[in-house]
Amino acid sequence: MQRYGIDIWGEDDFVIDRDKVRVNHLSSPALYDIVEDIRAQGTKGPLLLRFPHLIQKQIDAVFHTFHDAFSELDYKGRFQAVFPLKVNQFPDYLNPMIEAGKAYGYGLEAGSKAELVIAMSHISPNAPITVNGFKDREMIELGFLSAKMGHDITLTIEGINELESIIEVAKEMGAPIPKIGIRIKLHSTGSGLWQKSGGINSKFGLTSTELLEAMELLKANSLLDRFTMIHFHIGSQMTQISNLKKALREAGNIYADLLKMGASSLQSINLGGGLGIEYTQNEAYPEVTYSLKEYASDTTFVLQGIARAKNVKEPNILIESGRFIAASHAVLVAPVFELFSEEYSEKALRLKSENPPLIEELHELYTYINQDNALEYLHDSIDHLNSLLTLFDLGYIDLIDRSNSEILTHLIIRKAILLLHDKPVRELRQIQDKIQEKYLINFSIFQSIPDFWGLAQRFPVMPLAKLDTKPTRSASLWDITCDSDGEIDFDSRNPLFLHSVNLDEEDYFLGFFKVGAYQEVLGMKHNLFTRPTVATIEITDTGYDIHELVKSDSLMEILEDLNYNPLKIKEKILANIQQSSHISPLERDTVYARIATILEENGYLKTFN
Ligand SMILES: *Cc1c(COP(=O)(O)O)cnc(C)c1O
Repeated sequence: MQRYGIDIWGEDDFVIDRDKVRVNHLSSPALYDIVEDIRAQGTKGPLLLRFPHLIQKQIDAVFHTFHDAFSELDYKGRFQAVFPLKVNQFPDYLNPMIEAGKAYGYGLEAGSKAELVIAMSHISPNAPITVNGFKDREMIELGFLSAKMGHDITLTIEGINELESIIEVAKEMGAPIPKIGIRIKLHSTGSGLWQKSGGINSKFGLTSTELLEAMELLKANSLLDRFTMIHFHIGSQMTQISNLKKALREAGNIYADLLKMGASSLQSINLGGGLGIEYTQNEAYPEVTYSLKEYASDTTFVLQGIARAKNVKEPNILIESGRFIAASHAVLVAPVFELFSEEYSEKALRLKSENPPLIEELHELYTYINQDNALEYLHDSIDHLNSLLTLFDLGYIDLIDRSNSEILTHLIIRKAILLLHDKPVRELRQIQDKIQEKYLINFSIFQSIPDFWGLAQRFPVMPLAKLDTKPTRSASLWDITCDSDGEIDFDSRNPLFLHSVNLDEEDYFLGFFKVGAYQEVLGMKHNLFTRPTVATIEITDTGYDIHELVKSDSLMEILEDLNYNPLKIKEKILANIQQSSHISPLERDTVYARIATILEENGYLKTFN
């Protein structure tokens, strides 16, 4: 059985049971059934499914693992965590997450004014807020107001000028003054696709010289007692733990030295985010080479070692991991709209009473192909097709011949794959690289998995059903944008095999997993495909409840979002209908009504069964 690597990336969140992939929680419903259920209520096109229990699972894991690591080493500091809002700001994600983190005092990290407003309005006073990123005076003022509201807020400065602004605002507004954090520029860097955030050349943070300058400024302005935290972030999706350990040694020593220099309120090290998650579907190529347990115990061990050696108190540890918390909770489900070679059926052949010899040969290959000769016949058919296409270019065969050649070759390929699929022939694998089936998928890569387009990040993908049947087609996936970048090519390191399906008879859905971090807000409206319909699914003991069905934008809303005036669009269409000589006065109402109906629906394709 093809397991699509679920044992590597699935983390027991999802399991395969007989023919279907199921949510591995309480009643264990099949994703396929949930999707059909939602579609039966009139939703078409792609669907984003949120599973709040998976947010809870990740938050529990982070806090429990750190608490275990702390008890094991008898570590004296506190553990705290905040969620970086940039990873997912949507309320139907955020509200369940805040509920899930309440018992732990899980906080929020904000990187812009808008995010800070979300934090100020959504989090209780006992949970921390950290503010990173570049800040103007207004943002600093918001921080002060937030402290006044009773929030435990730390403004992390990214440069000396921000500290100067804080000093000015403090003079004007007075107490309470937010806590002050300082981002440090490390000489150690991260690894992986996102490594630009760390390191000496990073866009953020203070050098050691600037750090000394900041200390003097704080002291001179009697703000040293508000300086509580140092911060670094070595980049997202950290692939190896060794980089973090290097960064921790650097940060730990900076912490200890600053304490010795009189920063007596300094008590926390903020490690930023970067906890990686496993996206790979092939265990030969893992992306992440450490576990959460390793991350927690290494961090604790390194910081304790430095604190002991330098005889200072053990720092509180705060982390800002976002991807690790959010990625697994969302699954994008996209219907397959068409199989490229579907049109190549025997019925479509238009054989003549006399055909070119190579076509006669193709026909014989198709008739006599069997298990023993399949590979040879497959090779021959591909050679013949190439020759026939050349003959067409030279004008020796006509369009009907060309169509027959293409159909016959595809029929042979399909038959050969069926005949050979039990034999792991090396050559067959090579051929599969070349003769993939193209699956047209009813979604937009640009909208729903932009990191594939921008960073070549691959997300686990698998069909939701038919898992008791061996998939035989090597697949490349095409989205419905008109952009040739909207393709997920066949990757021999991570080969994707899908089923041959007859879409007139059955639905076939692909699930893209771990899309809950970054993808939603980075998603682009290329070709004006907007956010898919989003459903929040709560799994219960006996089934599941569908909450918060947020419908995909209608065509009118999409246009309004671009600043078109929907009324004017409708007026123009109506005027054109009235002037058209093809539409009789009696038909006008029905024509307009039909257009008006379509305008109220979303822009994705509709699959009917
Ligand atoms: C982006 C970011 C994070 C979150 O990183 P993840 O890889 O999602 O854990 C945390 N802290 C800072 C400062 C960031 O810029």
